[in-house]
Amino acid sequence: MSRFVEYFGVEPDGSWRAPGRVNLIGEHTDYNDGLVLPIALPNQITITASARTDGLISVASAGQDGVISFSLDSLAPGSVKDWAAYPAGAAWVLLQDKYEIGGANLLVESDLPSGAGLSSSAALLCATAVALLGLHDIEVDPAEVARLAQRAENQYVGAPVGLMDQMASMCCTAGHALYFDIRAMTTDQIPFEPAADGLALLVVDVKAPHRLVDGEYAARRNSCEQAAAQLGVPALRSIAFEELDDALARLSDDVDRRRVRHVVTEIRRVEDAVALLRAGNLRAVGPLFTASHASLRDDFEITVPELDVAVDTALAAGALGARMTGGGFGGCIIALVEASATDTILTAIDKSFADHGFTTPSALDATPSAGASRIS
Ligand code: ADP
Ligand code: MG
Repeated sequence: MSRFVEYFGVEPDGSWRAPGRVNLIGEHTDYNDGLVLPIALPNQITITASARTDGLISVASAGQDGVISFSLDSLAPGSVKDWAAYPAGAAWVLLQDKYEIGGANLLVESDLPSGAGLSSSAALLCATAVALLGLHDIEVDPAEVARLAQRAENQYVGAPVGLMDQMASMCCTAGHALYFDIRAMTTDQIPFEPAADGLALLVVDVKAPHRLVDGEYAARRNSCEQAAAQLGVPALRSIAFEELDDALARLSDDVDRRRVRHVVTEIRRVEDAVALLRAGNLRAVGPLFTASHASLRDDFEITVPELDVAVDTALAAGALGARMTGGGFGGCIIALVEASATDTILTAIDKSFADHGFTTPSALDATPSAGASRIS
């Protein structure tokens, strides 16, 4: 008997999937109206589903206890808690926008680490949304599904996240990075196929415990907003790279000055990376990764020893470039490496973590993959 039948006692109507992501470069520029460049990972959340006629949604997740049921009629922010808040939030936002979805049985399966900065939350929201829409043959533009998933995470789950994760999960295509301009709300698919150039992109989960993340995230946002207000611009995106020195001289607070320097230089690094990728010069992107890490460590101050040690070790073992990716204070690093050097570099990171007494890290394949889709 399939796991779905075991849980729900009926055969499924179909399966849908949505991937996790890593951002190649452009960290903490999203809430400054900046530029980001994520890829979708091969790791994903899969939802197998069947329609119900009684207005109930029943959800189960491999790795979580039991089946949780809630009625579509009584959904409101906060009405469903814990992990089931994500599927409930997706249903709630679809109903709010008058999509004619009905009840459903949903089985969640995942090979995407949760809470590791690889965006399992957005993958779960996007997978639920495409499954509920797919069950009722409702076609919605992928970028619109991303906006709905963001609204669910903001308003139902209560997490003040930007739009990058959901856009990556919905709109990425295999062999490309998604160049997303948050101010203009435009996207462009940028060819990015490390394997075709004899390269590999490594993702290493450093397994560092998150420390004070919420407060630190809010503090970074406040610094950026305060600096933008003092400079008389709506967001730091308005400060051109050429105007940076002048802007820094006009700021009174030294911490704000460093935060601004990170955001403005990081936006420039995204533009540089896109130009290099368009020219087919993948290896030259490596030093931009490394410069981004230094900026996040020294100016934005969101790295932890595990992230710095992983990056330094990857570089010492021959990586072309390496940086932390995600919100910081834990999560993952990415490293651009010669494919032939992959094992050497991963072994060096393992050894270095053992020497430092850190938890053993784990590596993922980061082949640039496709966004959400129906699979059966
Ligand atoms: P990230 O998005 O970086 O993985 P978040 O804290 O934003 O981290 O989201 C993680 C949360 O998403 C988990 O605490 C859980 O509530 C939910 N989640 C992720 N994957 C699953 C899964 N396979 N089954 C149930 N809930 C999941
Ligand atoms: Mg998340």
